[in-house]
Formats: sequence, structure tokens, C-alpha cells
Amino acid sequence: MKFVRFEYEGAIAHGALHDEEIVELQGSILDSRQETGRKLRLSDVRLLPPILPTKIVCIGQNYLEHIAEIGATPPDEPLYFLKPPSSLVGTGDAIIYPHIATRVDYEGELAVVIGKEMKNVSRADAADYILGYSCFNDVTERDLVNVKPLNLTLGKSFDTFSALGPCIATDIDPDNLRLRTILNGKTVQDASTHDCVFDVATILSFLSERLTLCPGDIVTTGTPVGIAPMKPGDVIEVEIEKIGKLSNVVRSPAA
Ligand code: MG
Repeated sequence: MKFVRFEYEGAIAHGALHDEEIVELQGSILDSRQETGRKLRLSDVRLLPPILPTKIVCIGQNYLEHIAEIGATPPDEPLYFLKPPSSLVGTGDAIIYPHIATRVDYEGELAVVIGKEMKNVSRADAADYILGYSCFNDVTERDLVNVKPLNLTLGKSFDTFSALGPCIATDIDPDNLRLRTILNGKTVQDASTHDCVFDVATILSFLSERLTLCPGDIVTTGTPVGIAPMKPGDVIEVEIEKIGKLSNVVRSPAA
């Protein structure tokens, strides 16, 4: 199943995506969804972020080649930080290049969408708490992140710096998916989630021992090697096998 959230004629709803057709749903996609009977064409709606999380928890430094490219050493346990929900945009939305920015990077990542409240859950049981998976761009102001001492919040919390979409795909294996990031039509990141240092179950169990993951929360899994800057006018896409393609344009604040 692929869930989308969309706006059509001024109203917002969830739907189940079947190729180019959306079957509208009512109730919560987390626990009480029902088909309304209405069907819409994908091309007729505006897709929105597929879920509204209470928090976005991001894992950093989870691919060895990326750890090497930023001059770090592999962490002993998952390294995580938070992005605010106010940074969220969907596919088709603009990523706004902050006027104080000097280097804004893409980071293509697999996102996990939590399906039910998760606290102190073992690695073996973690999969039971997952609704599905989406594509994520952990947009990063690299020069602000790299100030000493390291401050991820400074460079990662800007409005529009968390792109999520186009859908939430359920019932797939998150630990063996091809992930590509495409900048202006050119592939700039190409990896498999199989290469993650910490797999999804390990990450979720670790996090659940430290904070409560709420239904709808987003947990991202880190970016592979190949990070680089974007500039206003660029088109940046994150495509993950069995999920789809997240596409955004970078715009200057005045545009
Ligand atoms: Mg990242």
C-alpha cells in the first residue's frame, strides 16, 4: 500500500495511491482508515507531506563512506538529532535558500514513519511499530553545522529543510532498498540501505529507550556518500526503490 496526503479543491485528505489513481480515505491512516468511495487522478491533486509528525528524529553518520567524506569516525551507537516539524515540506514544494546561508547541501535519506507509540521496544519487536517508509531530504546548511562546537540544530532547522514524500509505502524491507539522489538530472548519490551501519530495527529500539516515538513521527536513517551544495534554481530529487521520487526546487527567499 502507498498512502498519500493531498489537497484538492481546498480540502485536505489522505488517500491510497494505485499507479496514477488515488482512492480517498477518511479517518486516520494510522488506525481507522476507510475508503470514502471517491477516486481522483494523481495529476489533479497537490501532494502534501504524507504525514504530520510531532517530531523528526534524524540519524547522522550511518554510512561508512559518508562518515569518511566528512572526516568523522564511525560512532559506537546511533548518533541522532532533531529537526522541528516547522521545517517540513512535501514533494513539489520549494526548498528556500536562507538569505544568511553560504552552503546548502542535499542529503538523500530513507525515512521511517512510526505507526504506534513506541517506548522501550526491543530490536526484535521494532517492526511492529512501523507504518511505512518515505523519501527524505535532510537539507543542511553545511557551514553552520560545522561551527565549533558542532551544532546540528543551527544548520538543519530552517523552514523547508525537511522534505518528505511523495508517499508512505508499507510492507517493504527497509534494509535492502536502492536510494538515489539526483541533482538537475544527474545522479549524485547512489547507495543501498543495506550498507547502513545501524539498521532500522536497531535505530528504532535505541531511540525508544531514550524518547517516546509517537504515531506519525519520522525517523530518518542517514545519508550515503556524495553530499554537495545546491543553489537557487536547482531541482533536487530523492528516489527510493519501491517508494517513489521526492522532487523539490531550490528557491531564493525573494522568488
Ligand atoms: Mg542527514
